Amino acid sequence: MPSAIRSASASSDGINGWRRTGNKIWVILSALFIYTVLELNTVLTDAQHWPDLDPHCLYFLPVGGTGEIGMNLNLYAYNGRFLLIDLGIMFGDEATPGVDVITPDIRALEPIADRIEALVLTHAHEDHLGALRYLWPKLKCPVYCTGFTARVAQRKLKEMSDKHAKAVKIKRVNAGDRVELGPFRVEWLHLTHSIPEPNGIVLDVADQRVFHTGDWKLDPNPVVGESYDAKRLEEIAAEGVDWMVCDSTNATTPGWSGSESEAARKLAEVLANRPGRLAVTCFASNVARVSSLGSLAPGLKRRVSILGRSMHEMTQAAKIEGYLPDFPSIVPASDLGYLPRDEQMILCTGSQGEPRAALSKLASDTHPDLHLEAGDTVVFSSKMIPGNEKSIGRMRNQFAVRNIDVLDGEALGIHVSGHPCVEELKWMYQTIAPRHALPVHGEGRHLKANADIARGCGVNALEIRNGDLVNLSHAQVVGKVYTGRCGVVGNSLIPTTSAALRERNKVKMGGSVTATVVIDGNGKLLAPPGIRLLGVADPATEEATGASLMRSMTTAIEALGPNSLKDDAAVQDAAEHALKKASYRKLGLRPVCQVMVARLG
Ligand SMILES: [Zn+2]
Repeated sequence: MPSAIRSASASSDGINGWRRTGNKIWVILSALFIYTVLELNTVLTDAQHWPDLDPHCLYFLPVGGTGEIGMNLNLYAYNGRFLLIDLGIMFGDEATPGVDVITPDIRALEPIADRIEALVLTHAHEDHLGALRYLWPKLKCPVYCTGFTARVAQRKLKEMSDKHAKAVKIKRVNAGDRVELGPFRVEWLHLTHSIPEPNGIVLDVADQRVFHTGDWKLDPNPVVGESYDAKRLEEIAAEGVDWMVCDSTNATTPGWSGSESEAARKLAEVLANRPGRLAVTCFASNVARVSSLGSLAPGLKRRVSILGRSMHEMTQAAKIEGYLPDFPSIVPASDLGYLPRDEQMILCTGSQGEPRAALSKLASDTHPDLHLEAGDTVVFSSKMIPGNEKSIGRMRNQFAVRNIDVLDGEALGIHVSGHPCVEELKWMYQTIAPRHALPVHGEGRHLKANADIARGCGVNALEIRNGDLVNLSHAQVVGKVYTGRCGVVGNSLIPTTSAALRERNKVKMGGSVTATVVIDGNGKLLAPPGIRLLGVADPATEEATGASLMRSMTTAIEALGPNSLKDDAAVQDAAEHALKKASYRKLGLRPVCQVMVARLG
């Protein structure tokens, strides 16, 4: 009995001991797990690393738009709090096949997202607010802007989903309003541009005052809305401005950008006494131009129709916000056929040759509601944006062969730019007299030209690029923060440097070859490999080309030694290498080659 009791007792101690040890292990494992999770959540990637920030200094960081046209995103930082100005997109080109829209890469903002006081929008152009729908879910901060910009932003969010439109809290302000956002005092200052309600931002933080211009020009008669607030510009100058962060887009263009009212006067001359239909294209967001054309139409005895969703939406937003009060009633495109040709004025999107826009469809005669005929006139009330020469040239050729006249906006003076040219920049630097200038929004040559203009006006200018962190309190660049671009691909944002987009480019350049190899346990081919060519050969020669590539691949596999033949990766490497080599030798191409190996038995 005693021994049995001891034994039982020993056994009981053993179980309890194991339980105690087990509990300890469990506690240690749990602690390790929690530590690992916390650590993973706090470890920052290289893209999220920030230099140390002095809490007593104000910082500026261009995340997008400085060194490029488009995709504007600027950040101010003070005492651990952050403010964003604008959140724009740019459009893809041949270097990003299949990617229409590009946003800033905001990985660096993710660790500070919960300390962003607000996103302030200067105006409603895509390159200043177009990324809201893609990037706001990562930021989740309040958005502040004036009424027209808010309405356009809401429409764009709604295009994505009702959920998006409801989630983003947009707070409306008026020009002249001042709002305290954490340590940032923000004032909206009305300027002129090529869209209603363009605003500069006057930012007061601690002892620094920044005038962040946004996009602007000096237009004494902008047709839609008031002229720029010269009185307030003089007031802030008298109070003293430390930094002017300034639009550089037109800094290489001499003179003045010209008034929208002057473009309207020229349009009246150019459009008078023309036979047939008038199809006029301009930027959809240029509400003033649309207004001028609407005002001219009755005098020309023409009715107005609008082709293109974006122009319809901008016009609608402008009407709701109280602009375009006298705009004539719009004839639905489907009713144009009931009007005589010389009573039609058609305003349409697509001045840059965008393939899905209305003007491209009119050029290729594939528009469902309108067929232009010989003797009609197409008017470009726009400028050609560099890079679009080919697509615009293609449309002009299509109109020319059908004897449809084309009038060029730049040559005829029926377009004016919305950005400040050299003399306007000089005027602003001389009026504001900032201590320092930071040129933004432009490519390298624009930024440099703007900096030179500032220096010519006696203003110290810093030339920076995206990612340069500027200590505004000490007037120096103090480090780099990661910036980049993301392509909108389906529902995902993919960095434009990602292998996924590099692969697309490779396929675009050389096509692709995909093969399937079925082998037994010893690597012996059990059937002839299957092969599929995409964009590599003309259909007439595709079968012969495929057979030739397949022979090269088969020879390479059969030449492998017994050990390699038992290794799937070795078989795959040899087959892909053979395909690449044979493609280059036989076709002079470097297609993307992929081989799938299936081993049976
Ligand atoms: Zn703009």
